[in-house]
Amino acid sequence: MKHTKIGATVGPSCQEKSILKEMVKSGMNFARLNFSHGTYDNHALLIKNIREVEEETNEPLAIMQDLQGPKIRLGILPEDGVELKTGEEVALDTSLTEYKKDILPLTFPGLEKFIQSGERILINDGRVEIKVEKIEGSKIYGKVIEGGVVTSHKGFNFPETKLSIPALSDKDKEDLKFGVKAGVDIVALSFVTNAKDILDLKFLIKQYEEESGINNEQPIRIIAKIERHEAVDNIKEILDVADGIMVARGDLGLEMPAEELPLVQKKLIDAANGAAKPVIVATQMLDSMQNNRRPTRAEVSDVANAVIDHADALLLTNETASGKYPALTVKTMHDIILATEKSTYDDANLPKGQRPDTDLAITKISRILAEEVEAKLILAASISGETGRLISRVRPELSILVATNSDRSRRQLNLSWGIRPFILPFCRTIEELVERSINYIKKEKIAKNGDKMIIVAGEPVGQAGNVNLVEVREIK
Ligand code: PGA
Ligand code: MN
Repeated sequence: MKHTKIGATVGPSCQEKSILKEMVKSGMNFARLNFSHGTYDNHALLIKNIREVEEETNEPLAIMQDLQGPKIRLGILPEDGVELKTGEEVALDTSLTEYKKDILPLTFPGLEKFIQSGERILINDGRVEIKVEKIEGSKIYGKVIEGGVVTSHKGFNFPETKLSIPALSDKDKEDLKFGVKAGVDIVALSFVTNAKDILDLKFLIKQYEEESGINNEQPIRIIAKIERHEAVDNIKEILDVADGIMVARGDLGLEMPAEELPLVQKKLIDAANGAAKPVIVATQMLDSMQNNRRPTRAEVSDVANAVIDHADALLLTNETASGKYPALTVKTMHDIILATEKSTYDDANLPKGQRPDTDLAITKISRILAEEVEAKLILAASISGETGRLISRVRPELSILVATNSDRSRRQLNLSWGIRPFILPFCRTIEELVERSINYIKKEKIAKNGDKMIIVAGEPVGQAGNVNLVEVREIK
Protein backbone atom coordinates (compact mmCIF):
# COMPACT_ATOMS: atom_id res chain seq x y z
CA MET A 1 0.00 0.00 0.00
CA LYS A 2 1.14 3.50 -0.76
CA HIS A 3 1.91 5.99 2.02
CA THR A 4 1.37 9.26 0.17
CA LYS A 5 -2.31 10.14 -0.12
CA ILE A 6 -4.23 11.20 -3.22
CA GLY A 7 -6.93 13.85 -3.27
CA ALA A 8 -9.14 14.31 -6.31
CA THR A 9 -11.23 17.31 -7.24
CA VAL A 10 -14.71 16.13 -8.11
CA GLY A 11 -16.69 17.79 -10.87
CA PRO A 12 -18.63 17.08 -14.05
CA SER A 13 -16.26 14.32 -15.21
CA CYS A 14 -16.63 12.19 -12.11
CA GLN A 15 -19.95 12.92 -10.47
CA GLU A 16 -21.35 9.48 -11.16
CA LYS A 17 -20.96 6.93 -8.40
CA SER A 18 -19.54 4.29 -10.70
CA ILE A 19 -16.65 6.60 -11.67
CA LEU A 20 -16.09 7.77 -8.09
CA LYS A 21 -15.93 4.16 -7.00
CA GLU A 22 -13.37 3.38 -9.65
CA MET A 23 -11.32 6.35 -8.46
CA VAL A 24 -11.41 5.08 -4.87
CA LYS A 25 -10.33 1.66 -6.04
CA SER A 26 -7.49 3.33 -7.95
CA GLY A 27 -6.17 5.02 -4.81
CA MET A 28 -8.19 8.19 -4.17
CA ASN A 29 -8.26 9.10 -0.44
CA PHE A 30 -10.22 12.34 -0.25
CA ALA A 31 -12.45 14.52 -2.41
CA ARG A 32 -12.20 18.24 -3.01
CA LEU A 33 -15.25 20.28 -4.00
CA ASN A 34 -14.22 23.47 -5.76
CA PHE A 35 -16.60 26.27 -4.78
CA SER A 36 -15.27 28.52 -7.53
CA HIS A 37 -17.58 26.51 -9.76
CA GLY A 38 -20.89 24.69 -9.58
CA THR A 39 -24.31 25.26 -8.03
CA TYR A 40 -25.41 24.23 -4.55
CA ASP A 41 -27.67 21.59 -6.08
CA ASN A 42 -24.69 20.14 -7.87
CA HIS A 43 -22.45 20.20 -4.79
CA ALA A 44 -25.22 18.55 -2.77
CA LEU A 45 -25.45 15.77 -5.35
CA LEU A 46 -21.68 15.26 -5.27
CA ILE A 47 -21.69 15.10 -1.47
CA LYS A 48 -24.50 12.55 -1.51
CA ASN A 49 -22.66 10.40 -4.06
CA ILE A 50 -19.34 10.59 -2.20
CA ARG A 51 -20.96 9.54 1.07
CA GLU A 52 -22.65 6.60 -0.65
CA VAL A 53 -19.42 5.52 -2.29
CA GLU A 54 -17.69 5.72 1.09
CA GLU A 55 -20.35 3.49 2.57
CA GLU A 56 -20.23 1.01 -0.30
CA THR A 57 -16.44 0.73 -0.52
CA ASN A 58 -15.83 1.09 3.24
CA GLU A 59 -12.93 3.42 2.43
CA PRO A 60 -12.86 6.71 4.36
CA LEU A 61 -13.36 9.67 2.00
CA ALA A 62 -12.98 13.10 3.54
CA ILE A 63 -14.88 15.88 1.82
CA MET A 64 -12.88 19.09 1.46
CA GLN A 65 -14.82 22.24 0.69
CA ASP A 66 -12.49 24.59 -1.18
CA LEU A 67 -13.61 28.19 -0.72
CA GLN A 68 -12.73 30.56 -3.55
CA GLY A 69 -11.48 33.33 -1.27
CA PRO A 70 -10.87 36.85 -2.57
CA LYS A 71 -9.98 35.83 -6.12
CA ILE A 72 -10.21 39.02 -8.13
CA ARG A 73 -11.81 38.60 -11.53
CA LEU A 74 -12.86 40.44 -14.66
CA GLY A 75 -16.54 41.30 -14.91
CA ILE A 76 -18.71 40.57 -17.92
CA LEU A 77 -17.11 41.00 -21.33
CA PRO A 78 -18.57 40.70 -24.85
CA GLU A 79 -19.16 37.10 -26.05
CA ASP A 80 -15.92 36.80 -27.98
CA GLY A 81 -13.82 38.50 -25.34
CA VAL A 82 -11.60 41.52 -25.81
CA GLU A 83 -8.23 41.47 -27.50
CA LEU A 84 -5.46 43.31 -25.69
CA LYS A 85 -2.58 44.01 -28.05
CA THR A 86 1.00 44.13 -26.86
CA GLY A 87 2.20 47.71 -26.55
CA GLU A 88 -1.27 49.26 -26.43
CA GLU A 89 -2.75 51.32 -23.62
CA VAL A 90 -5.47 49.70 -21.51
CA ALA A 91 -7.90 50.92 -18.85
CA LEU A 92 -9.52 48.98 -16.00
CA ASP A 93 -12.27 50.27 -13.73
CA THR A 94 -13.05 48.81 -10.30
CA SER A 95 -16.50 50.42 -10.25
CA LEU A 96 -17.68 48.57 -13.38
CA THR A 97 -19.20 45.12 -13.54
CA GLU A 98 -19.57 45.11 -17.33
CA TYR A 99 -17.31 46.11 -20.22
CA LYS A 100 -18.03 49.70 -21.24
CA LYS A 101 -16.43 51.84 -23.95
CA ASP A 102 -13.09 50.04 -24.10
CA ILE A 103 -12.78 49.90 -20.30
CA LEU A 104 -12.37 46.51 -18.62
CA PRO A 105 -14.43 45.82 -15.49
CA LEU A 106 -12.32 44.76 -12.48
CA THR A 107 -14.86 43.52 -9.98
CA PHE A 108 -13.30 44.59 -6.72
CA PRO A 109 -14.36 48.09 -5.58
CA GLY A 110 -11.58 49.85 -3.72
CA LEU A 111 -8.79 47.74 -5.15
CA GLU A 112 -7.26 50.83 -6.78
CA LYS A 113 -6.15 51.96 -3.29
CA PHE A 114 -3.59 49.16 -3.12
CA ILE A 115 -2.21 49.42 -6.66
CA GLN A 116 0.78 51.58 -7.48
CA SER A 117 2.17 52.67 -10.80
CA GLY A 118 4.98 50.47 -12.05
CA GLU A 119 3.38 47.26 -10.70
CA ARG A 120 2.52 44.32 -12.94
CA ILE A 121 -0.99 42.90 -13.19
CA LEU A 122 -1.60 39.42 -14.65
CA ILE A 123 -4.86 38.17 -16.20
CA ASN A 124 -6.02 34.70 -17.23
CA ASP A 125 -3.44 32.50 -15.54
CA GLY A 126 -0.67 34.97 -16.33
CA ARG A 127 -1.17 34.84 -20.08
CA VAL A 128 -1.81 38.58 -20.30
CA GLU A 129 0.39 41.07 -18.52
CA ILE A 130 -0.20 44.75 -17.88
CA LYS A 131 2.14 47.33 -16.37
CA VAL A 132 0.31 49.99 -14.37
CA GLU A 133 1.04 53.59 -15.37
CA LYS A 134 -1.41 55.70 -13.42
CA ILE A 135 -4.46 55.56 -11.19
CA GLU A 136 -7.33 58.05 -11.41
CA GLY A 137 -10.31 57.52 -9.12
CA SER A 138 -11.54 53.98 -9.69
CA LYS A 139 -9.66 53.71 -13.00
CA ILE A 140 -6.32 52.00 -13.46
CA TYR A 141 -4.40 52.79 -16.65
CA GLY A 142 -1.55 50.75 -17.97
CA LYS A 143 0.33 49.35 -20.92
CA VAL A 144 -0.09 45.82 -22.28
CA ILE A 145 3.27 44.04 -21.94
CA GLU A 146 2.03 40.62 -23.08
CA GLY A 147 -1.12 40.66 -25.19
CA GLY A 148 -3.94 38.18 -25.67
CA VAL A 149 -7.68 37.75 -25.69
CA VAL A 150 -9.43 37.99 -22.31
CA THR A 151 -12.95 36.77 -21.63
CA SER A 152 -15.55 37.15 -18.86
CA HIS A 153 -14.61 36.24 -15.27
CA LYS A 154 -10.94 35.49 -15.94
CA GLY A 155 -8.84 35.80 -12.78
CA PHE A 156 -6.24 38.40 -11.85
CA ASN A 157 -2.96 38.03 -10.02
CA PHE A 158 -1.02 40.88 -8.43
CA PRO A 159 2.52 39.63 -7.87
CA GLU A 160 3.92 43.00 -6.82
CA THR A 161 1.01 44.51 -4.94
CA LYS A 162 0.56 44.51 -1.20
CA LEU A 163 -3.13 43.68 -0.89
CA SER A 164 -4.78 43.86 2.46
CA ILE A 165 -8.19 42.42 1.84
CA PRO A 166 -10.09 39.93 4.00
CA ALA A 167 -9.76 36.27 2.96
CA LEU A 168 -13.49 35.62 3.30
CA SER A 169 -15.81 37.29 0.78
CA ASP A 170 -19.61 37.38 1.12
CA LYS A 171 -19.78 34.51 -1.36
CA ASP A 172 -17.35 32.48 0.78
CA LYS A 173 -19.54 33.04 3.84
CA GLU A 174 -22.64 31.81 2.02
CA ASP A 175 -20.71 28.84 0.66
CA LEU A 176 -19.32 28.04 4.10
CA LYS A 177 -22.81 28.06 5.60
CA PHE A 178 -23.83 25.54 2.97
CA GLY A 179 -20.75 23.40 3.62
CA VAL A 180 -21.18 23.38 7.39
CA LYS A 181 -24.79 22.28 7.03
CA ALA A 182 -23.83 19.64 4.48
CA GLY A 183 -21.30 18.22 6.94
CA VAL A 184 -18.02 18.70 5.06
CA ASP A 185 -14.99 17.39 6.99
CA ILE A 186 -12.40 19.92 5.88
CA VAL A 187 -12.51 23.51 4.66
CA ALA A 188 -9.69 24.82 2.49
CA LEU A 189 -9.38 28.59 2.32
CA SER A 190 -7.86 30.27 -0.74
CA PHE A 191 -5.56 33.31 -0.77
CA VAL A 192 -4.81 33.22 2.94
CA THR A 193 -2.46 36.01 4.02
CA ASN A 194 -1.98 35.46 7.74
CA ALA A 195 -3.13 33.66 10.89
CA LYS A 196 -6.06 36.03 11.36
CA ASP A 197 -7.69 34.75 8.16
CA ILE A 198 -7.74 31.26 9.65
CA LEU A 199 -9.02 32.43 13.04
CA ASP A 200 -11.84 34.35 11.32
CA LEU A 201 -12.80 31.19 9.45
CA LYS A 202 -12.79 29.12 12.66
CA PHE A 203 -15.04 31.68 14.32
CA LEU A 204 -17.50 31.61 11.42
CA ILE A 205 -17.60 27.81 11.35
CA LYS A 206 -18.52 27.81 15.06
CA GLN A 207 -21.16 30.43 14.51
CA TYR A 208 -22.77 28.56 11.61
CA GLU A 209 -22.68 25.30 13.52
CA GLU A 210 -24.45 26.92 16.43
CA GLU A 211 -27.04 28.51 14.18
CA SER A 212 -27.80 25.17 12.58
CA GLY A 213 -27.72 23.21 15.85
CA ILE A 214 -24.75 21.11 14.71
CA ASN A 215 -22.64 19.57 17.43
CA ASN A 216 -19.86 17.32 16.18
CA GLU A 217 -17.20 16.56 18.75
CA GLN A 218 -14.56 16.49 16.05
CA PRO A 219 -14.27 19.94 14.54
CA ILE A 220 -14.05 20.66 10.82
CA ARG A 221 -10.34 20.95 10.04
CA ILE A 222 -8.93 23.90 8.16
CA ILE A 223 -6.39 23.81 5.34
CA ALA A 224 -4.70 27.11 4.48
CA LYS A 225 -4.03 27.39 0.76
CA ILE A 226 -0.64 28.99 0.35
CA GLU A 227 -0.88 30.92 -2.90
CA ARG A 228 0.14 34.47 -2.00
CA HIS A 229 3.70 35.61 -1.47
CA GLU A 230 2.78 37.09 1.93
CA ALA A 231 1.53 33.68 3.09
CA VAL A 232 4.93 32.15 2.34
CA ASP A 233 6.54 34.77 4.59
CA ASN A 234 3.90 34.18 7.30
CA ILE A 235 3.99 30.39 7.13
CA LYS A 236 4.95 29.93 10.78
CA GLU A 237 2.02 31.86 12.23
CA ILE A 238 -0.34 30.26 9.70
CA LEU A 239 0.80 26.75 10.68
CA ASP A 240 0.28 27.63 14.35
CA VAL A 241 -3.47 27.96 13.82
CA ALA A 242 -4.33 26.00 10.66
CA ASP A 243 -4.71 22.21 10.66
CA GLY A 244 -2.69 21.81 7.48
CA ILE A 245 -1.62 23.61 4.32
CA MET A 246 -1.90 23.27 0.57
CA VAL A 247 0.92 24.31 -1.73
CA ALA A 248 -1.46 25.85 -4.30
CA ARG A 249 1.02 26.12 -7.12
CA GLY A 250 -1.42 27.52 -9.69
CA ASP A 251 -1.77 30.93 -8.17
CA LEU A 252 1.42 30.77 -6.13
CA GLY A 253 3.41 30.34 -9.36
CA LEU A 254 2.01 33.65 -10.59
CA GLU A 255 2.16 35.60 -7.35
CA MET A 256 5.87 34.93 -7.08
CA PRO A 257 8.59 34.20 -9.64
CA ALA A 258 7.79 30.72 -11.03
CA GLU A 259 11.44 29.68 -10.86
CA GLU A 260 11.30 29.90 -7.07
CA LEU A 261 8.34 27.51 -6.87
CA PRO A 262 10.23 24.20 -6.56
CA LEU A 263 12.23 25.44 -3.59
CA VAL A 264 9.24 27.12 -1.97
CA GLN A 265 7.40 23.80 -2.27
CA LYS A 266 10.19 22.08 -0.34
CA LYS A 267 10.33 24.82 2.26
CA LEU A 268 6.57 24.74 2.87
CA ILE A 269 6.54 20.94 3.11
CA ASP A 270 9.38 21.02 5.65
CA ALA A 271 7.54 23.60 7.73
CA ALA A 272 4.34 21.53 7.78
CA ASN A 273 6.21 18.28 8.53
CA GLY A 274 7.87 20.01 11.46
CA ALA A 275 4.48 21.05 12.82
CA ALA A 276 3.04 17.51 12.35
CA LYS A 277 0.33 18.92 10.10
CA PRO A 278 -0.62 17.50 6.70
CA VAL A 279 0.65 19.25 3.58
CA ILE A 280 -0.94 18.82 0.16
CA VAL A 281 0.80 19.61 -3.12
CA ALA A 282 -1.65 20.79 -5.77
CA THR A 283 -2.15 21.84 -9.36
CA GLN A 284 -0.99 20.63 -12.77
CA MET A 285 0.46 17.43 -11.34
CA LEU A 286 -0.81 15.36 -14.28
CA ASP A 287 -2.30 18.23 -16.25
CA SER A 288 -1.93 16.74 -19.72
CA MET A 289 -4.03 13.75 -18.67
CA GLN A 290 -7.09 15.97 -19.00
CA ASN A 291 -6.95 14.95 -22.66
CA ASN A 292 -4.38 12.18 -22.87
CA ARG A 293 -4.13 8.69 -21.49
CA ARG A 294 -0.42 9.17 -20.78
CA PRO A 295 1.18 11.96 -18.75
CA THR A 296 4.26 13.82 -19.93
CA ARG A 297 7.57 12.62 -18.50
CA ALA A 298 7.95 15.98 -16.77
CA GLU A 299 4.64 15.41 -14.96
CA VAL A 300 5.69 11.93 -13.86
CA SER A 301 8.86 13.46 -12.45
CA ASP A 302 6.91 16.21 -10.71
CA VAL A 303 4.67 13.68 -8.91
CA ALA A 304 7.67 11.56 -7.91
CA ASN A 305 9.55 14.61 -6.65
CA ALA A 306 6.64 15.74 -4.48
CA VAL A 307 6.76 12.28 -2.85
CA ILE A 308 10.51 12.67 -2.37
CA ASP A 309 9.87 16.12 -0.82
CA HIS A 310 7.71 14.32 1.84
CA ALA A 311 4.29 15.70 0.98
CA ASP A 312 1.46 14.01 2.87
CA ALA A 313 -0.89 14.17 -0.08
CA LEU A 314 -1.03 15.14 -3.74
CA LEU A 315 -4.09 16.76 -5.24
CA LEU A 316 -5.54 16.32 -8.71
CA THR A 317 -7.57 19.31 -9.88
CA ASN A 318 -8.87 19.74 -13.45
CA GLU A 319 -7.56 16.30 -14.38
CA THR A 320 -10.30 14.59 -12.41
CA ALA A 321 -12.93 17.38 -12.27
CA SER A 322 -13.25 17.96 -15.98
CA GLY A 323 -10.73 15.68 -17.69
CA LYS A 324 -11.47 12.70 -19.88
CA TYR A 325 -9.89 9.99 -17.72
CA PRO A 326 -10.49 10.66 -14.01
CA ALA A 327 -9.95 7.10 -12.75
CA LEU A 328 -6.98 6.42 -15.00
CA THR A 329 -5.37 9.65 -13.77
CA VAL A 330 -5.73 8.54 -10.14
CA LYS A 331 -4.31 5.13 -11.05
CA THR A 332 -1.36 6.73 -12.83
CA MET A 333 -0.60 8.91 -9.81
CA HIS A 334 -0.94 5.89 -7.53
CA ASP A 335 1.56 3.91 -9.58
CA ILE A 336 4.12 6.74 -9.64
CA ILE A 337 3.79 7.14 -5.86
CA LEU A 338 4.24 3.43 -5.25
CA ALA A 339 7.28 3.15 -7.52
CA THR A 340 8.90 6.17 -5.84
CA GLU A 341 8.17 4.98 -2.31
CA LYS A 342 9.90 1.68 -3.04
CA SER A 343 13.15 3.56 -3.37
CA THR A 344 15.21 5.12 -0.60
CA TYR A 345 15.04 8.59 -2.18
CA ASP A 346 11.81 9.41 -0.34
CA ASP A 347 13.02 8.12 3.05
CA ALA A 348 13.00 10.77 5.76
CA ASN A 349 15.48 11.38 8.54
CA LEU A 350 14.13 11.32 12.06
CA PRO A 351 13.01 14.88 12.88
CA LYS A 352 15.09 16.79 15.42
CA GLY A 353 12.63 19.12 17.14
CA GLN A 354 13.06 21.09 20.34
CA ARG A 355 13.76 19.31 23.61
CA PRO A 356 11.98 18.29 25.75
CA ASP A 357 9.19 16.85 23.59
CA THR A 358 7.76 13.57 24.89
CA ASP A 359 5.46 13.04 21.90
CA LEU A 360 8.34 13.36 19.50
CA ALA A 361 10.59 11.12 21.60
CA ILE A 362 7.95 8.39 21.85
CA THR A 363 7.08 8.45 18.18
CA LYS A 364 10.74 8.45 17.12
CA ILE A 365 11.33 5.41 19.31
CA SER A 366 8.31 3.70 17.75
CA ARG A 367 9.88 4.05 14.31
CA ILE A 368 13.30 2.86 15.46
CA LEU A 369 11.73 -0.07 17.25
CA ALA A 370 9.61 -0.99 14.25
CA GLU A 371 12.69 -1.09 12.05
CA GLU A 372 14.78 -3.05 14.56
CA VAL A 373 12.24 -5.81 15.19
CA GLU A 374 10.91 -5.75 11.61
CA ALA A 375 7.38 -5.05 12.74
CA LYS A 376 4.50 -5.17 10.27
CA LEU A 377 2.63 -2.19 11.65
CA ILE A 378 2.33 0.51 14.26
CA LEU A 379 -0.97 0.62 16.15
CA ALA A 380 -2.37 3.62 17.97
CA ALA A 381 -5.74 4.88 19.14
CA SER A 382 -6.68 8.47 18.58
CA ILE A 383 -10.05 10.10 19.10
CA SER A 384 -9.08 13.41 17.52
CA GLY A 385 -6.49 11.90 15.19
CA GLU A 386 -3.66 13.86 16.80
CA THR A 387 -1.63 10.84 17.92
CA GLY A 388 -1.87 9.48 14.39
CA ARG A 389 -0.49 12.68 12.92
CA LEU A 390 2.36 12.68 15.44
CA ILE A 391 3.38 9.19 14.36
CA SER A 392 3.02 10.07 10.69
CA ARG A 393 5.46 12.96 11.22
CA VAL A 394 8.36 10.57 11.92
CA ARG A 395 7.59 8.81 8.61
CA PRO A 396 7.91 5.14 9.66
CA GLU A 397 7.95 3.03 6.50
CA LEU A 398 5.16 0.66 7.51
CA SER A 399 1.39 0.84 8.02
CA ILE A 400 0.30 3.20 10.76
CA LEU A 401 -3.03 1.82 11.96
CA VAL A 402 -5.02 4.40 13.85
CA ALA A 403 -8.18 3.36 15.65
CA THR A 404 -10.78 6.06 16.20
CA ASN A 405 -14.43 6.05 17.20
CA SER A 406 -15.30 9.05 15.05
CA ASP A 407 -16.23 8.84 11.37
CA ARG A 408 -15.02 12.37 10.88
CA SER A 409 -11.61 11.73 12.49
CA ARG A 410 -11.24 8.63 10.37
CA ARG A 411 -11.85 10.64 7.23
CA GLN A 412 -9.63 13.53 8.28
CA LEU A 413 -6.79 11.13 9.06
CA ASN A 414 -6.87 9.95 5.48
CA LEU A 415 -4.96 13.10 4.46
CA SER A 416 -1.92 12.15 6.48
CA TRP A 417 1.01 10.18 5.14
CA GLY A 418 1.00 6.45 5.92
CA ILE A 419 -2.07 6.37 8.14
CA ARG A 420 -4.68 3.64 7.76
CA PRO A 421 -7.54 4.86 9.93
CA PHE A 422 -10.23 2.46 11.11
CA ILE A 423 -13.28 2.60 13.34
CA LEU A 424 -13.14 1.00 16.76
CA PRO A 425 -15.44 1.70 19.68
CA PHE A 426 -13.71 3.61 22.48
CA CYS A 427 -11.21 1.44 24.41
CA ARG A 428 -10.40 2.16 28.02
CA THR A 429 -7.23 0.11 28.27
CA ILE A 430 -4.37 -0.90 26.06
CA GLU A 431 -5.37 -4.56 26.38
CA GLU A 432 -8.80 -3.75 25.00
CA LEU A 433 -7.28 -1.79 22.12
CA VAL A 434 -4.88 -4.57 21.20
CA GLU A 435 -7.41 -7.35 21.42
CA ARG A 436 -10.05 -5.65 19.31
CA SER A 437 -7.58 -4.31 16.76
CA ILE A 438 -6.12 -7.74 16.13
CA ASN A 439 -9.47 -8.86 14.71
CA TYR A 440 -9.37 -6.01 12.24
CA ILE A 441 -5.71 -6.57 11.38
CA LYS A 442 -6.30 -10.24 10.60
CA LYS A 443 -9.50 -9.60 8.69
CA GLU A 444 -7.77 -7.02 6.50
CA LYS A 445 -4.74 -9.32 6.16
CA ILE A 446 -2.40 -6.56 7.29
CA ALA A 447 -0.47 -9.04 9.46
CA LYS A 448 -0.73 -12.63 10.62
CA ASN A 449 0.03 -14.71 13.71
CA GLY A 450 3.66 -14.42 14.73
CA ASP A 451 4.13 -10.97 13.16
CA LYS A 452 5.23 -8.14 15.39
CA MET A 453 3.52 -4.81 15.88
CA ILE A 454 4.38 -1.67 17.80
CA ILE A 455 1.82 -0.10 20.11
CA VAL A 456 1.96 3.65 20.74
CA ALA A 457 -0.37 4.66 23.53
CA GLY A 458 -1.05 6.16 26.91
CA GLU A 459 -3.91 5.69 29.30
CA PRO A 460 -6.73 6.50 29.05
CA VAL A 461 -6.29 5.27 25.51
CA GLY A 462 -6.96 7.62 22.61
CA GLN A 463 -6.96 10.92 24.42
CA ALA A 464 -4.80 13.71 23.05
CA GLY A 465 -1.67 14.58 25.01
CA ASN A 466 -1.36 11.17 26.58
CA VAL A 467 1.23 9.40 24.50
CA ASN A 468 3.85 7.99 26.82
CA LEU A 469 4.24 4.32 26.03
CA VAL A 470 5.77 2.20 23.26
CA GLU A 471 5.61 -1.57 23.23
CA VAL A 472 6.39 -4.50 20.97
CA ARG A 473 3.70 -7.15 20.75
CA GLU A 474 3.41 -10.36 18.85
CA ILE A 475 0.19 -10.99 17.00
CA LYS A 476 -1.56 -14.12 18.11
P1 PGA B 1 -7.46 26.87 -7.25
O1 PGA B 1 -6.31 26.61 -6.21
O2 PGA B 1 -7.56 25.68 -8.14
O3 PGA B 1 -8.66 27.06 -6.40
O4 PGA B 1 -7.04 28.13 -7.95
C1 PGA B 1 -5.19 25.84 -6.50
C2 PGA B 1 -4.02 26.65 -7.00
O5 PGA B 1 -4.07 27.88 -7.11
O6 PGA B 1 -3.00 26.01 -7.25
MN1 MN C 1 -5.69 29.06 -6.44
